[in-house]
Amino acid sequence: MDPLKRVEQELKKCVKCGACRAHCPVFSVVGREPVSARGKIALARAALSGTVELDARTRSDMSKCLLCGRCVEKCPNDVPTDLIVLAAREALARRRGVAPFYRMAGMLLRNRAMLNAGAFLASLLGPLLFRKVPASSGLRLRFPLPYMGGKRRLPKIAAKPFLSRHPEVIPGVPGKPRVVYFVGCMTNYLYPEIGEAAVSLLKSIGCTVVITKDQQCCGFPALSGGDLPTFRRLAEQNLEALEKHRADYIMTSCASCGGAFHRMYPGLLVERYPDLAERCRSLAEKTVDAVELLEKLGFTPGTGRAEKPRRIAYHDPCHLRSRGVTRQPRELLTSLQDVRLVEMEAADSCCGLGGTFNVYHYGASMGINARKTAAIRNASVDVVATACPGCMLQLADGLHQGAVGTRVLHVLQVLARGIAAGKGP
Ligand code: SF4
Ligand code: SF4
Repeated sequence: MDPLKRVEQELKKCVKCGACRAHCPVFSVVGREPVSARGKIALARAALSGTVELDARTRSDMSKCLLCGRCVEKCPNDVPTDLIVLAAREALARRRGVAPFYRMAGMLLRNRAMLNAGAFLASLLGPLLFRKVPASSGLRLRFPLPYMGGKRRLPKIAAKPFLSRHPEVIPGVPGKPRVVYFVGCMTNYLYPEIGEAAVSLLKSIGCTVVITKDQQCCGFPALSGGDLPTFRRLAEQNLEALEKHRADYIMTSCASCGGAFHRMYPGLLVERYPDLAERCRSLAEKTVDAVELLEKLGFTPGTGRAEKPRRIAYHDPCHLRSRGVTRQPRELLTSLQDVRLVEMEAADSCCGLGGTFNVYHYGASMGINARKTAAIRNASVDVVATACPGCMLQLADGLHQGAVGTRVLHVLQVLARGIAAGKGP
């Protein structure tokens, strides 16, 4: 069925009130009606009725969405604009082919061995491709590469991906939960320290940790590009990899991977491929973010004393905020004796990454991020913590470019340092 036909009823629910416009981060910097949520719905309607072509212009407008879900939360009629945008992208991919960047990404994501080899090569060529950014552990490209503007501050690629660092099963205390850890690509290749923190925290409370080696990308990048066959293939591989271990919980430490398992697998994917319904529903039921799980299992930090409390602000990743997971990370942080949690302005606004939005629209992405950088600067904090490696990458880039010295850490890193040293970060 035509992907836009599938969302026809949802399109009809929009009454054009414009309540979403004031909340759309992309509209706030681009300022053109077609990129607002209401505008995208009008565009999708016009494409469905045939009054607008699924051409390069439509593709460009539909690509200007972070899939942040803010418009969905604010819409009085529950119009799922993010799903409508994804349907339009799928229709565009069918009509015009998957766009080159997504084709390349899909090829790599479908082939873990090739992705590992590419990451290893990039880590070896690091000194040739990148120069170290002073006063931080980040890197900047020496020259622009396709889809990578030269001003970006990027994290170092891990020479050894996280998935190859541990045995598949790390036994815990009998009777304690068995947790299957879905690591996600960014932790695997760019931030293995988040994975190390996750493992040490789970071990500290006696859980058995299963790091299934066959896990793949959650598929969000393929879905974003309208490449549904690749999304399905990755989803099926993940279902197999995660189902074969008897898990009490499936834990993610990336808000977007969790968002894929909670909303996209049982929703959009099942709508296209109903044969996966039962398995996707069961996966969503078992999936929890690390901050939810630690809070649920009654994690308590070490009892060390610090001479000086650290000021930490928390940034809400969109895919946790939209699921209502905002209390747990804050409570975990404040449970550390030497942490003073500072609520910064617009803590729950999008950082502007939006996955591939940052690749295609770097200027707008950093324009959205500028507000976040200013809020962090105004909060005068030592650390900004979050629960999504994608947000970490974006926040660190913005802070570097804004010459703000605040460190960016995952909540798990802050907590793990607490238990390791008996004190905060
Ligand atoms: S998507 Fe919702 S909030 Fe936006 S114009 Fe339509 S009905 Fe109004
Ligand atoms: S999902 Fe976010 S970026 Fe996309 S239209 Fe809605 S508010 Fe705007």
